[in-house]
Amino acid sequence: MELKDKRVLVVGLGRSGVASALFLNSRGARVTVSDAKSEDELRDEIPALLDQGIAVETGGHGERTFQDQDLIVVSPGVPGDAQALGQARALGQPIIGEIQLASEFLPGPVVAITGSNGKTTTTTLVGEILRAGALKTLVGGNIGTPAISLVEEAAPDTVIVLEVSSFQLETIRTFRPLIAIVLNVTADHLDRHRTFQAYVDAKARIFLNQKEDDFAVLNRDDPTCVDLSRRTRAQVFWFSRRHEIAQGAFLAGSRIIFRRHGEREEIMAASEIPLKGSHNLENVLAAVCAGRLMGVAGETIRAAVAGFKAVEHRLEYVATVGGVEYYNDSKATNVDATIKALESFPANVHLILGGKDKGSDYTLLSDCLRQRVKCVYTIGAAAGTIESQIQGIVPSRHSGTLDEAVKQAASTAQPGEVVLLAPACSSFDQFHNYEHRGQVFKQLVRALEAVSPGARA
Ligand code: ADP
Repeated sequence: MELKDKRVLVVGLGRSGVASALFLNSRGARVTVSDAKSEDELRDEIPALLDQGIAVETGGHGERTFQDQDLIVVSPGVPGDAQALGQARALGQPIIGEIQLASEFLPGPVVAITGSNGKTTTTTLVGEILRAGALKTLVGGNIGTPAISLVEEAAPDTVIVLEVSSFQLETIRTFRPLIAIVLNVTADHLDRHRTFQAYVDAKARIFLNQKEDDFAVLNRDDPTCVDLSRRTRAQVFWFSRRHEIAQGAFLAGSRIIFRRHGEREEIMAASEIPLKGSHNLENVLAAVCAGRLMGVAGETIRAAVAGFKAVEHRLEYVATVGGVEYYNDSKATNVDATIKALESFPANVHLILGGKDKGSDYTLLSDCLRQRVKCVYTIGAAAGTIESQIQGIVPSRHSGTLDEAVKQAASTAQPGEVVLLAPACSSFDQFHNYEHRGQVFKQLVRALEAVSPGARA
């Protein structure tokens, strides 16, 4: 893709939008960026752009902004049916996303990871496995460092491990991962995709350009993934905790096995995985497939998995205070992730639920609550809805704030029990984001530790 002197408009000034604008500018394009947010809201982003001579438009898109552009790079936060983009489409202008832009310039193989839950954990783990296997590896995408920021450092033999969201996949055109992993597909982001089918279709775009010599790694235990396997030309490798499978990674008794071309290779014992929960076993099985397909030895994979630490805010152990264990799963922003978190503990959980409601069905939690939860503490805007949907299943207390919930849970929980923040909601009603919510939770737990240091287990 030749960028010199091309007129390029970047829509949306999130992390990937800023990185795209700077990259395009460095390649000689004439870049304009445009965002609906006000100048004040974007005060942290704007100076670096103006310094480079990039034109910045804030507070919405002017009538002429989309005219005479050679290319439009749209951020994942901008819905595909946004009015402004309709205008651009009507003008016949090419619209791509940052992942597509990056893929035009990344010379080496890509391992792309998507799914409703587990992307960040699996992306991080795959990165560590490949590094342990002495492959030059860069990790990025939705996980933090935008893919476009990896271009400068990437050599033809660098493996790029990318977390990709459904929003990012909507705007790819030629993006072709050597290995495409779909971990699971459960209802999420329906506020944006509208129907489950539209969400599945967005995920399926990860296979769009794959060929017979590429690989698709899919969850055999997830019915939607089984359906998706019919939508790729790539060689399918399955992973499963429940079934022995012909090609891929699975659990046989307590051992993790990888099988390819009829050859069965034992990788490790499941008990060596340092992460809690059967969902993390699934993430490990997917990562084992990616590692073996990239040629990393089983023994090296075993060591990398055994040394892996939970990514912050993902079922992260915080502390034991007064014999009570505290876990931070602030990233459990949907019902399925909360169910997975609960399934990691046999019983006696004090669960903090709530935040910004995404229109989820909290009754899906009923079985898990009955089996494993002693008391629910509700917080945030969704508190009332949650209370009415779980009424009569387990005792619940209306805590309102996270601070109050931690205090109430701490005073109720008995030694040997667990306090878990796995709120099934996003955080934006009371916090900047899920990281902020998780940090506040950890500070509150540490404050408990400080007042009862003698009680620390
Ligand atoms: P993502 O990047 O897809 O949001 P994360 O690794 O950040 O995934 O995990 C998000 C939430 O989902 C966390 O609460 C985590 O404990 C839970 N989770 C992780 N892996 C899985 C999985 N395979 N299935 C279901 N939930 C999972």
